[in-house]
Amino acid sequence: MKNNGTEKAAESCNSKNRFTCIFDEKEITARIGAVAAQINADYAGKNLVAVCVLKGAFMFFSDLVKQLVMEPELDFVRVSSYCGQTESSRAVTITKDLEVNVQGKHVLLVEDIVDTGHTIAFLTNHLQARGACDVRVAALVDKTERREVPVKAAYVALNLPEGFIVGYGLDYKEKYRELPGIYLVDLDA
Ligand code: 5GP
Ligand code: MG
Repeated sequence: MKNNGTEKAAESCNSKNRFTCIFDEKEITARIGAVAAQINADYAGKNLVAVCVLKGAFMFFSDLVKQLVMEPELDFVRVSSYCGQTESSRAVTITKDLEVNVQGKHVLLVEDIVDTGHTIAFLTNHLQARGACDVRVAALVDKTERREVPVKAAYVALNLPEGFIVGYGLDYKEKYRELPGIYLVDLDA
């Protein structure tokens, strides 16, 4: 029998109250369709490199790029971030760099969640230093209220004021990425 996301999520936890579905597959698909249409309109006739920020954005990236019509080049980066002594000092390092040459090209960074903004600020600078003529961000989820760095995602599929979420690529300790919906996790349950 095929499990739906809710059943899978409940099964993978000790407590069934721990996960609450906040965006189901249908809503995610509809929102990504709207974001893809905006991107197709904005980049018509331009050279685009779409860059997936691993690992969390993999599912969003794959559903998004299937709908892009400008034949983008695709690439992947991976970063890790370490908290400094204060909340706002965050060191971001690249653990898997770009392979495509972005010199003189438009780049769309495809990120799972823009939270404090440190990751996106760092990657935008990195891409500009590599010669990208324009860098924009497409975010699956925007947590605007938690921003520490003034960055803005040009394309946002879903908004969430606060809370920790998993599913649709997003993990908790490397689990739950496979879930088709997005769930709010009660980490204290
Ligand atoms: P920031 O914008 O704070 O530099 O980094 C955002 C990154 O933190 C995201 O790419 C994501 O990997 C992680 N993150 C932030 N909020 C959540 C969340 O609610 N769930 C999960 N799984 N990861 C999160
Ligand atoms: Mg991430």
